[in-house]
Amino acid sequence: MTKCIYSILNKAISTYNLDKSEILHLLKIDENTKIFEAADKLRKEHVGNKIHLRALIEFSNYCKQNCLYCGLRRGNAKITRYRLQPQEIINLAKKAAEYNYKTIVLQSGEDSYYTTNRMSKIIFEIKKFNVAVTLSIGEKTFEEYRAYREAGADRYLLRIETTDKVLYDKLNPGMSLKNRMRCLEYIKMLGYEVGSGIMVGLPGQTIESIAKDIIYLKSIPVDMAGIGPFIYHPDTPIEKIEGNYFELALKVMAILRLLMPDINIPATTAMETLNPNGRLIALQCGANVVMPNATETAYKKHYEIYPGKICIASSPKHCRFCIENKIRSINRNIAESEGHHKSNS
Ligand code: SAH
Repeated sequence: MTKCIYSILNKAISTYNLDKSEILHLLKIDENTKIFEAADKLRKEHVGNKIHLRALIEFSNYCKQNCLYCGLRRGNAKITRYRLQPQEIINLAKKAAEYNYKTIVLQSGEDSYYTTNRMSKIIFEIKKFNVAVTLSIGEKTFEEYRAYREAGADRYLLRIETTDKVLYDKLNPGMSLKNRMRCLEYIKMLGYEVGSGIMVGLPGQTIESIAKDIIYLKSIPVDMAGIGPFIYHPDTPIEKIEGNYFELALKVMAILRLLMPDINIPATTAMETLNPNGRLIALQCGANVVMPNATETAYKKHYEIYPGKICIASSPKHCRFCIENKIRSINRNIAESEGHHKSNS
């Protein structure tokens, strides 16, 4: 028996719970606008109109992993590799704090150059600028996660990418879904705010597996959920996909808002890559966070996870100015707080 969309949405907005068949139903139907409206309503009620900006610093594109979908994979000989020196990273973070960002996100490939000590020092120095620090540097040991936390890191982003074991193993050679889940458990255990998420539109991914991904993210439960459409990179061995998964990624994001109404949800850069207004649309379908790029222009274009990345020629200053204007254009404003989960203002 298929339930009608109204009864599913009513259940979601009153209980924040849906079972797998209900999630699947929402993923399959065409009436996306109703789902987006419900997500926008819950976003407004639970986290308000303010948008949290996080300055993203992409400090190294070296990676020891070989994920089939990612342009940073170690097997990609065409990419120009770069890594910033600790002091350069700290300087970029200082600049971002001067532009009034309250959170600095440090992202990279899995680059062993940054030893636990080096990384901890970078975090410790950046914390002096009175900002929250989020790390997005991949799979580490419990001891490494603990050291970063002790150095002052507040949050950690590690997307599960997909919870379909067969697909995960195929796409991430030498890695395992089990270990990625374990990493997320460590991160949670250590008191970080946990960010995770998935890509939508991976070759071989099913709607059924996306429904399971959603249930997994809720079971953690995450404090932040980032959902991005998969974008084909020609210098990777993955198959090219037909079509554009912007709308489905938006829907997955909206369903997560229905199930976890007070978490932080970014309007992702990959969404804007597939749609020129992608981030503003996402902000009106459940998202409350944007992560503008604060990497120096000279390096930005080489951090090519996927092609067509937006704003690669723009300076960190310009990106800040541009996003502020866009946000004002939809009558929302920028939060002044650090924007931790459950303390939004
Ligand atoms: N090394 C870090 C950061 C990875 S890059 C880590 O493992 O967490 C951040 C995210 O980019 C990845 O988690 C993945 O979800 C996304 N990504 C990678 N390749 C992509 C592609 N081709 N299209 C869209 N998103 C991609």
